[in-house]
Amino acid sequence: MDCKIKENISNCPCTYKGCSKKGKCCDCLKSHLIKRQLPACCFTKDAEKTYDRSFEHFIKLVNNGEI
Ligand code: SF4
Repeated sequence: MDCKIKENISNCPCTYKGCSKKGKCCDCLKSHLIKRQLPACCFTKDAEKTYDRSFEHFIKLVNNGEI
C-alpha cells in the first residue's frame, strides 16, 4: 500500500504551521495518542484553532453535541 501523503495533506484541516507530521496521518495520530490527545481532524473548525487536542476537550464537545 502506498502512502497517500499528498491526498492527506490536501484534506488535512490542521492549522498548526510547520508541523513535520502534516499528511503523515500514522505519525500524527501516534504522536497525539501518546499525549492523550486526538489529531486536528477529530475537532470542529473552531475547536481545532484552540490547539487543545486533549481527550477531555473532545469529550466536552461530544457532550455538548458539537461533534
Ligand atoms: S494534528 Fe498535530 S501532529 Fe497532526 S498535523 Fe496537526 S499539529 Fe501536526
